[in-house]
Amino acid sequence: MDEQFDVIVIGGGGAGLAAALAAAQDGASVILFESERAVGGSTQLSAGLFTAAGTSVQRALGIEDSAEKFYQHYMDLNQWMLRPGLIHAFCTNAGPTLEWLLELGVRIPAAVSGNAHQPGLTRAGVEDVWRGHVPKDQGYGLVQVLDRSCRAHGVEVVLGTRVQRLLVEDGHVAGVVADDIEVRGSAVVIATGGFANDPDFVERYFPAARAAGEALFVVAAPGSRGDHLRFGADVDAALTGHGWGLLMPTVYFQRAHHWQSGFPPASRILVDQAGRRFMDEDAPYAVSTGIIDQHGGYGWMIFDERARLGLAPGYTDWATERVAEEVAAGRTVRADSWEELAEAIDVPHAALRASIERWNQHLPSGRDPDFLRHVSLAAKGSPTRLDPIASGPFYAAKILPAELVCTHTGLEIDARAAVLDSTGTPIPGLFAAGEAGGGVLGLRYVGGGNAIANALTMGRLAGNNAAAAHAATKARGN
Ligand SMILES: Cc1cc2nc3c(=O)[nH]c(=O)nc-3n(C[C@H](O)[C@H](O)[C@H](O)COP(=O)(O)OP(=O)(O)OC[C@H]3O[C@@H](n4cnc5c(N)ncnc54)[C@H](O)[C@@H]3O)c2cc1C
Repeated sequence: MDEQFDVIVIGGGGAGLAAALAAAQDGASVILFESERAVGGSTQLSAGLFTAAGTSVQRALGIEDSAEKFYQHYMDLNQWMLRPGLIHAFCTNAGPTLEWLLELGVRIPAAVSGNAHQPGLTRAGVEDVWRGHVPKDQGYGLVQVLDRSCRAHGVEVVLGTRVQRLLVEDGHVAGVVADDIEVRGSAVVIATGGFANDPDFVERYFPAARAAGEALFVVAAPGSRGDHLRFGADVDAALTGHGWGLLMPTVYFQRAHHWQSGFPPASRILVDQAGRRFMDEDAPYAVSTGIIDQHGGYGWMIFDERARLGLAPGYTDWATERVAEEVAAGRTVRADSWEELAEAIDVPHAALRASIERWNQHLPSGRDPDFLRHVSLAAKGSPTRLDPIASGPFYAAKILPAELVCTHTGLEIDARAAVLDSTGTPIPGLFAAGEAGGGVLGLRYVGGGNAIANALTMGRLAGNNAAAAHAATKARGN
């Protein structure tokens, strides 16, 4: 192996592949290390949903949008807790990064999409305008295109090699150590993803996830072991995003992402511990976890026999028989009357009855004056007239934020994706992006596709700036 490269990228998910390709396109020699046997990481497992403003896809659908509008929305949703300069750079570059992907061969048709599985443009989050771009073949499609392009641009991709540590000389990052071999480079991009699979880091940096207890399950890729935090500790890198991540609400018996585990019945109601309906059951996951937290950390999903029997076949968790098994095991409650159900889950009878009666009064006619669920259903292209909840026996299953998708505590980066030290000064030669680079993913997941847009946009910027750092080093004759 040639042991001297202009740019070294650690991690071959979305951020790493985008960084490697961008640096190579700028003329740098690039090596990328991936710890697993194949590139892809969580990016490959994802729906590939990408939030971006002012794109050709939006324009073709007549949607007026701009990076400024996106920036305002992004900052507002995150209550201005994020750094404006970084977020402005992200919002400004997300659209051009999407166009870059289209030029590379990613396919996103100018069509309205009802969900994260149908290529096109969708509303998947709390959005002021539709910004959720769904690529053909989802995250897999993105990774395939980027991987192919990397190889076509001469990026050396080394699989099955977990980088052990950074090489640091005179305060400057000068390379990495992998397989006990030193590989030198003018700039290093850390793109190792998050830490969802390291229980100690989850405990320390995202304790809300541990609060899910036995119900917690991780859908992030196996390589999400928090190596960015280990590398950062060696160079006094600042961390940001403490306590933030994406935990999706699921019933306690779900054990896989919804495209494997299936979908709960449409005719369901979520009630809190006071027996009252408290949210749009289809509220975007950007906000649904926060709503549940406000209501004591868990709720009850209530549905009836007709809904259970109507579950679509072929899924592992939301299946007619699986619900029956949970009842038999005493974990999901079944009762012949509302009163018995209320008793069993310890909520007031009168409140549960009132919640159900109000549902039955409105949702079968296609309107939800309290939570506007008909609007969410219509955005997904789903029927807005739902069944009454009236055919006993009745069921109650606990719902709580328990599906760990991604983590947001990363190495603090500036608008160039340069890693900052604890004084806020860029560490020479070090860049980070994706879940490893902190500061873009905040308190709230924005739109449909916040994390993929972050990985690819900041990855691309990291690659461009790493190549520029190499060029500057070379110009200085080092
Ligand atoms: C099931 C699922 C669905 C999702 N859907 C969406 C969606 O539709 N839209 C959205 O915005 N977000 C989505 N997300 C979140 C999003 O996919 C991730 O936040 C994003 O892909 C992270 O990209 P990344 O490049 O930072 O990390 P990854 O894609 O995980 O890549 C990191 C890579 O680094 C490798 N690595 C780790 N340590 C080392 C090391 N020491 N040396 C070498 N290699 C190393 C890992 O093996 C991995 O391949 C989803 C996540 C999941 C799990």
